[in-house]
Amino acid sequence: MKIDILTLFPELFGEFFKWSIIGRAVDKNLVELNCTNIRDFSKDKHKKVDDYPFGGGPGMVMRPEPIYEAIESIKENDSIVIYLSPKGKVYNQEMANRLAKENHLVLLCGHYEGIDNRIVENYIDEEISIGDFVLTGGEIPAMLLIDSIVRLIPGVLSSQESFMEESHYNGLLEYPQYTRPREFKGLSVPSILLSGDHEKIAEWRKYESLKATYLNRKDLLEKREFTSEEKLMIEKIIEEDKKNI
Ligand code: SAM
Repeated sequence: MKIDILTLFPELFGEFFKWSIIGRAVDKNLVELNCTNIRDFSKDKHKKVDDYPFGGGPGMVMRPEPIYEAIESIKENDSIVIYLSPKGKVYNQEMANRLAKENHLVLLCGHYEGIDNRIVENYIDEEISIGDFVLTGGEIPAMLLIDSIVRLIPGVLSSQESFMEESHYNGLLEYPQYTRPREFKGLSVPSILLSGDHEKIAEWRKYESLKATYLNRKDLLEKREFTSEEKLMIEKIIEEDKKNI
């Protein structure tokens, strides 16, 4: 997989490309990450890329020509061009799973008041938001997409780090995790985890995963189908929850 980032601030990505699992994936050639500076495509003698908004209003807007040239310089037949934008569809794990199967992603980072809408309408395949808030630029959202996508590429995570049980992968939040020491400031870990009984541990984890999702994200449960075992667990969780009110 190849991911190209179009940005006015390529220097922000230097350490990120070398960092932890992302760096390992780059070293193993499982992903190729490149940055292109949109400013390099400005024809202006001062390399300006923004201008005043037509119709007036505060701030500046990124002009279409340098963005168009930058996209054209790297786009291939199978590229998916994504504009990071607070107006886009809100990103989630399902989108990450889908994008991880693509060959080439182009992530366009906006700045100022955003980009000329002719680019959005004509040269972008998807507009993606990372949440209902406004950031200064698309660079942090681009890093967020890259991080969530790269860890899904086969071979990037070792089997011990598998994403299959992580929050959101199966539409549930992950069960609680504990490590050594067994006692920490008088607090012990759930005894079942020390029992060595793998069947019972799996059952406990499923229950805790459903419980965390029920307590924090009921909306996720509404989208999911349940086995009869899971249905019984949910009934128990609801009962317990009522007792705690
Ligand atoms: N004027 C725009 C609006 O109200 O929708 C906001 C522009 S924002 C200050 C500048 C850039 O940051 C955007 O072009 C986009 O690339 C990025 N950005 C800001 N918030 C974002 C979010 N929630 N998700 C993805 N990108 C975002």
